[in-house]
Amino acid sequence: MSADGPRLDGKVAVITGAGRGQGAAEARLFVQAGACVVITDVRAEEGRAVAAELGDAAVFVRHDVTEAAGWETVTRTAVASFGRLDVLVNNAALWRTAPVDTETEESFALLLRVNLLGPFLGIKAVVPELRTAGGGSIVNISSTAGLKGLPGHAAYGASKFGLRGLTRSAAVDLAGDRIRVNSVHPGVIDTPMVAGALGPERGERDHPRVPLRRIGRPDEVAELVRYLASDASAYITGAEFAVDGGLTT
Ligand code: NAD
Repeated sequence: MSADGPRLDGKVAVITGAGRGQGAAEARLFVQAGACVVITDVRAEEGRAVAAELGDAAVFVRHDVTEAAGWETVTRTAVASFGRLDVLVNNAALWRTAPVDTETEESFALLLRVNLLGPFLGIKAVVPELRTAGGGSIVNISSTAGLKGLPGHAAYGASKFGLRGLTRSAAVDLAGDRIRVNSVHPGVIDTPMVAGALGPERGERDHPRVPLRRIGRPDEVAELVRYLASDASAYITGAEFAVDGGLTT
């Protein structure tokens, strides 16, 4: 993680699903860059541990992104703890795969709820506070599965393509309020989400399908998210950024 790079001094961010993986890496980098963060997750133990590690600049709220009422608690906590809200990172998600013909209605509906409805509820919840702050940045974590068709990704891919579409439409709706909305599309990143699929060798292994020949690290996604949260990206909205080692080129 680089100590240099865009600063986030005075900014307050909500990062969903930040108890582990990329969200936790983003919380750490944001605080290092001068921000205060509200960490949310359904994994209370992990979320509390990340917040404790970050001290006074972080608080944890146990929250399921599909719960609209809980979103009010999240935004209220941000303002009560740190006085304002500037940034939302819609990071929380579930990953499951199955060929389209054997995918179940239950699993398809669940992935759409968590990966697409959740970010939508988050956007609705934070917009009033972002307006009060005079503008802000919303970063939606999609996937390379939101850029191209992948085997077994009917449900997850539909949710991540949907999040990409939500990003573009929200960017247009909110531009007048100086609220920017962009999507990030990670490739294969070494986190607990995909650990089972990658096996024990993970990052060490040569990954011939990836032009950069390796899988990515959570902090490499966090660097991009920090940039999009910061004023360094002030003229960027409705845009899509792959961080995938060249996988989708
Ligand atoms: P992860 O599983 O390590 O972390 C995701 C976090 O989200 C977990 O802590 C989990 O408890 C939380 N979460 C799940 N459902 C939730 C809910 N309903 N409410 C609140 N929190 C919930 O995964 P990660 O790799 O860090 O994923 C971060 C983001 O990156 C996700 O949007 C994921 O889809 C995306 N992504 C990951 C990869 C990858 O290879 N790891 C690739 C492309 C995109």
